Amino acid sequence: MPSSNPTLNIKKILTGSFVVFIACAVVASVAAWQSFTPASLRLDDPDVGVLPPALPPSAMSVTSLPTGSYDSPAALTFRGGSWRETRHMAMTQVLIRHPKGNLLIDAGAGTNVDSHVLTLPAMQRTPYRRGTPAIEQLAALGMKPGDVAGVIPTHAHWDHISGLQDLKDVPVLISDRARMFIASETEDTKLLRSFQNVRFIEYKFDGGSYLGFPRSHDVWGDGSVVIVPAPGHTPDSVVVFVNLPSGKRLAFLGDLTFQMEGIDLPAEKPWMMRRIIGERDNEVRHDIALIRAAREKYPQIIAIAAHDSKAFQAIPVAPSTLR
Ligand SMILES: [Zn+2]
Repeated sequence: MPSSNPTLNIKKILTGSFVVFIACAVVASVAAWQSFTPASLRLDDPDVGVLPPALPPSAMSVTSLPTGSYDSPAALTFRGGSWRETRHMAMTQVLIRHPKGNLLIDAGAGTNVDSHVLTLPAMQRTPYRRGTPAIEQLAALGMKPGDVAGVIPTHAHWDHISGLQDLKDVPVLISDRARMFIASETEDTKLLRSFQNVRFIEYKFDGGSYLGFPRSHDVWGDGSVVIVPAPGHTPDSVVVFVNLPSGKRLAFLGDLTFQMEGIDLPAEKPWMMRRIIGERDNEVRHDIALIRAAREKYPQIIAIAAHDSKAFQAIPVAPSTLR
């Protein structure tokens, strides 16, 4: 029966409010601690096996096409990053020239990036800089969209596919997982679904294990461009290995980590970011361990996180190339 004593009722309400306040404060403190304090990341020690064979043609090369950047406090890019440091997050496309067909990894920021940013929830918009869209950089190299055999998105988030809108008629190479993810009603793929006339070509992970990743797809059959599934950041995420005639091997990580500290320290993304994105922590940790182990065993492997501007210094900007 409810108390008829007004003093007792006020006491109960105040006590209840205090308990809720303390509970919220504890949850917020734990979330902040888990997100922003430095913490050593314990990883397994996987066996990455033998170095997979590769016979890249001598004419093969890679070039980076920077299309813009957006700002983020380092604290939101890896656990232990500083709130005082701003990272300029690369939105860079990679051009692979190959005699069997030129390929692009990711699509960077396109001509309509301003309107693409407006499709994001307000809290996710940050200051950004427009660069030159890839379509214009390709034209400056004397290339038309028809000279590109396909674009390989590392995943379908807006900052990796914005430029696809400009690359009409260029096939977009996706896995069956990516097809399902794109077709789902998730906010993650809303921008890509809004583009008209995107021509998807589906590939299968029909190859065996590759540097510890369970399956692979060899795009040209010569070991020069090999895609492996890395579905921790998003279900469609992949890592793309590009093996050059010089013997250098590049691993394009997409958003497995936002910055190279994720691999080098190693350090996870802040807990809060992982929950907002919906990442699968164990999958991401395992794939970070694989990349670290592969790099340690085979020092010719250079890993590049998609938003790490410093890491992209390993690849010259067009018109220069790396072979
Ligand atoms: Zn991204």
